[in-house]
Amino acid sequence: MIELHSEVHMAEMKMDNARDPEQIRRMKALKESGRCYFCKEGSAEEKTLPVIINEGEYWYITKNDFPLDGSVHHYLIVPRRHVLQTYYLSPEERVELGGMEWWLAQDLKVSGYSMFVRSGDMSLTGATIDHCHYHFLVGGVKPEVPEGEMVPLDQVVPVVLAYKQK
Ligand SMILES: [Zn+2]
Repeated sequence: MIELHSEVHMAEMKMDNARDPEQIRRMKALKESGRCYFCKEGSAEEKTLPVIINEGEYWYITKNDFPLDGSVHHYLIVPRRHVLQTYYLSPEERVELGGMEWWLAQDLKVSGYSMFVRSGDMSLTGATIDHCHYHFLVGGVKPEVPEGEMVPLDQVVPVVLAYKQK
């Protein structure tokens, strides 16, 4: 099931999940080149290549150029292989993922964070590229409210995972 590829991958992309005009522009450039952004194949433009801040045997970490609203930190942990769903990750890849997550938390010196994955059918995940990837997010501090009052839901976790377009 697990195969290492060296060929170029054509990633499926979902433009209507994009949240930023620059993101859409870059996605169009990638689409024209027929390359997968997360496979680091890029397009003709240098800036469509992910900037890697750390990498292991199976994963790399890159800062999200289009951070979700409300995030203080927003990074992506991406498998080197063109894997569409987490189902296809090997045990070795899963172990290293845990190490990458820990490394990033230590490097950022954060006392808490959230992680979620976009995997599979993009009409359900909000992903823009079908190469699966984990999001590593640190939100702002929850606002203080008078005792007995509730914090509105959208402020409990200031980072929203929805896909509002700018
Ligand atoms: Zn890929």
